Amino acid sequence: QAHLDRIAAVDGDVHAFLHVSDTALDAAADIDRRRAAGEELHALAGVPLAVKDVLVTTDMPSTSGSKILEGYLSPYDATVVARARAAGLIPLGKTNMDEFAMGSSTEHSAYGPTHNPWDLDRIPGGSGGGSAAAVAAFEAPLALGSDTGGSIRQPAHVTGTVGVKPTYGAVSRYGAIALASSLDQIGPVTRTVLDAGLLHDVIGGHDANDSTSLTDAWPSFAAAAREGARGDVLKGLKVGVIRELPDSGFQPGVARSFHGALAKLESQGAEIVEISAPHFEYGVAAYYLILPAEASSNLAKFDSVRFGLRVPVAGGTVEDVMAATREAGFGDEVKRRIILGTYALSAGYYDAYYGSAQKVRTLIQQDFAAAFANVDVIATPTAPTTAFRLGERIDDPLQMYLNDVTTIPANLAGVPGISIPSGLADDDGLPVGIQFLAPAREDARLYRVGAALE
Ligand code: GLN
Repeated sequence: QAHLDRIAAVDGDVHAFLHVSDTALDAAADIDRRRAAGEELHALAGVPLAVKDVLVTTDMPSTSGSKILEGYLSPYDATVVARARAAGLIPLGKTNMDEFAMGSSTEHSAYGPTHNPWDLDRIPGGSGGGSAAAVAAFEAPLALGSDTGGSIRQPAHVTGTVGVKPTYGAVSRYGAIALASSLDQIGPVTRTVLDAGLLHDVIGGHDANDSTSLTDAWPSFAAAAREGARGDVLKGLKVGVIRELPDSGFQPGVARSFHGALAKLESQGAEIVEISAPHFEYGVAAYYLILPAEASSNLAKFDSVRFGLRVPVAGGTVEDVMAATREAGFGDEVKRRIILGTYALSAGYYDAYYGSAQKVRTLIQQDFAAAFANVDVIATPTAPTTAFRLGERIDDPLQMYLNDVTTIPANLAGVPGISIPSGLADDDGLPVGIQFLAPAREDARLYRVGAALE
């Protein structure tokens, strides 16, 4: 009830939610009854959970921020939602996002932007700005996001929250409306590292419904966070700092916050090691070919027949109806990427664009492998600037894309990443995040380090 009251009080300004559950209180009463009857419940039972609208749910519409799916009700729950419900977590509502998770500001939502609770004139990050804003504005204690090129970590950075992109394959993508299947990962957005670990423990692990799901036995990430909070895990930890990411690329207040966090790591016994990742600078270019290519294929299913919107065309052919539906149902950014993707995949251009991008992806994976031979984690500022103003970059897609320079490499390589708050920038007073990256399958390391620095 407290969270519903908070939503009623602030969400008119923040607009973190596209839909608020009308069954959450009944679910909470049910948890109370079970607890009163002596049932042994999960530690998170009864805790409300905000769910990014990219994840399908049976009891609330799932639109992925698009008009083409307005009002769409899924016949099944995404695996992460089903697991959360099974643990007694209560889906509180569906959160706003850039359409089909394409964007860094939530301004590409077909339902209007979300506002950053720290300053309502600024962006909450994207694509998962709704989830991060809901957590930052105390509308929900926990949220789920999806991260294809930074959509969990960058919103966490600009809202002062914690965001985790797990190792590719660590968390099921079943029931996540696909953006780019080789890059997408689902993960937690929370206010503390321990909260993220608790939620990750609930949603993670093998799922036979996701063919890329890893079969690993994962350690408890909550336990890793608790271990980190006890301290001394930083002693002797080798933290890599990338030579090719010079301070000049970052807002001065962001760079200073980053160096402040590094100094804190050092003072607790960590060793800062300069590493080289010469191909990182090509990450954005490769990503914005691979992502549109995969997205253009994934979005082909929105054909007016199988899902959502259908725009009738009197006397028209099936193709006319498809074209009219896609014209009306998709926003500009989605159309831009479909066109980019189909172009990059077309005969004659495939090798030059898509093929080259895949080679760059391999080089970035090799950069990570070489770096992790020498360091335990890599640290970067999570994004180049603090929250920018709504409207500032919406007409300049390249500026918007460049924002993802530090988050994209993790998705291209499949490695895990966490963004934790590193304080407020000393030039504009807005939240800044520090990102840690670890080798694939070493997610627990991120929870240990994050909790130690928190
Ligand atoms: N900003 C990136 C993009 O626009 C990230 C998207 C994401 O992680 N879903 O593609």
